[in-house]
Amino acid sequence: ASRFEGVTMAPPDPILGVSEAFKADTDPKKLNLGVGAYRTEELQPKVLDVVKKAENLMLERGENKEYLPIEGLAAFNKATAELLLGADNPILQQGRVATIQGLSGTGSLRLAGAFIERYFPGAKVLISSPTWGNHKNIFNDSRVPWSEYRYYDPKTVGLDFDGMIADIKAAPEGTFVLLHGCAHNPTGIDPTPEQWEKIADVIQEKNHIPFFDVAYQGFASGSLDQDASSVRLFAARGMEVFVAQSYSKNLGLYAERVGAINVICSSSDVATRVKSQLKRIARPMYSNPPVHGARIVANVVGDPTLFNEWKVEMEAMAGRIKGVRQKLYDSLSAKDKSGKDWSFILKQIGMFSFTGLNKAQSDNMTDKWHIYMTKDGRISLAGLSLAKCEYLADAIIDSYY
Ligand code: PMP
Repeated sequence: ASRFEGVTMAPPDPILGVSEAFKADTDPKKLNLGVGAYRTEELQPKVLDVVKKAENLMLERGENKEYLPIEGLAAFNKATAELLLGADNPILQQGRVATIQGLSGTGSLRLAGAFIERYFPGAKVLISSPTWGNHKNIFNDSRVPWSEYRYYDPKTVGLDFDGMIADIKAAPEGTFVLLHGCAHNPTGIDPTPEQWEKIADVIQEKNHIPFFDVAYQGFASGSLDQDASSVRLFAARGMEVFVAQSYSKNLGLYAERVGAINVICSSSDVATRVKSQLKRIARPMYSNPPVHGARIVANVVGDPTLFNEWKVEMEAMAGRIKGVRQKLYDSLSAKDKSGKDWSFILKQIGMFSFTGLNKAQSDNMTDKWHIYMTKDGRISLAGLSLAKCEYLADAIIDSYY
C-alpha cells in the first residue's frame, strides 16, 4: 500500500489544462485560444529579435552563472522600476520604491501575498469579478482572505463602474484592492482615465491599499508609458502602492520567469525596511531568482538602440492583435443576421476578448469546432490569425444561438 492513498487527484488547471486538451486533439482545424501567449500570423510562437540580440551580446561577454543576490539583478531592478514609473519620476530619486525581482508576475504576486499575510494579518484583498483565475489560488495559498468587487456587466459586456465603486467603498478600511494596470484579464475592459481618477478617490478616502497587477505593459496600447498611466496616476497622488510586473508577454519571456514586485512607500526609510522583509520572504522560498531573463531585460532597456527596437516589435505585436480583433468583429457583423451589436469586441483591449459565451456555449466551441478556450467565454486573440477569423466567427455564431 502506498503512503499516498489519501492524495486525491487534483483538478486540471482551468487555463493550462486547455492547452493539454488542445495537444490531444488531432483535428487539423483545431485552434488554441486558451492560454494568453502571442503567436505569429502563422500561429507559431515568437522570440523577439531584440531578445536574440541581447542573448548574443550576453554570450559574447561570456557572462557567468553566479548566484544573484536575493533581491535579483540590480540593473534589472533599476530598469523595471523606471519602466513602470518613468525614468524621471521623483519617487525613484527619493528612493521610495522597494523593488525585488520575482519569478515573473505569478511569483511576484505570491511574494506580495506572503508579505500581506505577515504584516497585515486579517486584511482582505479585493479582486475583480471576474479576474485571472490564478489570483484566487495565489491568495488562497498565501492564506490571505479575498472577496470580489463587481467589474463586468454582462448586459453591456462592459464595465460595471457603479458596482465597482460601491464595492470598493463598502470594503473595510485598509483593504488591498487588486487592479489590473491595463488590458484586464479576462475581460479586455479597462476603466477610462476619468474612471481611474474616481477609483483612486475612493481608495484614498477609504485608506485602502492599491495593488496593481501589471502583466501587459506595452502590450495593450503598444506604448509602455500609456499602459503604465493607471499606476502612475496613483503613485503621483503620494499613495503607497503595490505593483507586480511581468515580462512574459511584452518581451515574450514566458518561460524565463522574469518579473518584479515593487512597493511604493511613503519614505525611503520605509522602502528600505519593506525591501529587507521581501528578501527575507524570498530567501527560504527559492533563495534567489534566475539571471538569464533579468539580464535580457537589463540589456534591452539599457541600450538605446535595443530599447527602440523592442518598442517597434511590441507595437507590431499589439498591432497584429488589434488587426485580428477588427477582422473578427467584421466577420461576426457580416455573418450574424440577427442584428446583434458586436462592437464590444472593438472596445476591449489587450490579448483577450470576452465573448459573452457561457459555459455550455464555450463547450460547443470546443466539442464541435475544435476551438479551445476557457469556459468563461474568454478567447486569446494573440493565438488567432487573420486567416482563421472567419472560421472563428462561424463557430461563435453557431454556439451563440
Ligand atoms: N497577471 C495576469 C493578469 C496575467 O494575465 C498573467 C499571465 N497570464 C500574470 C499575472 C502572470 O504571468 P507570468 O507569471 O507568466 O508573468
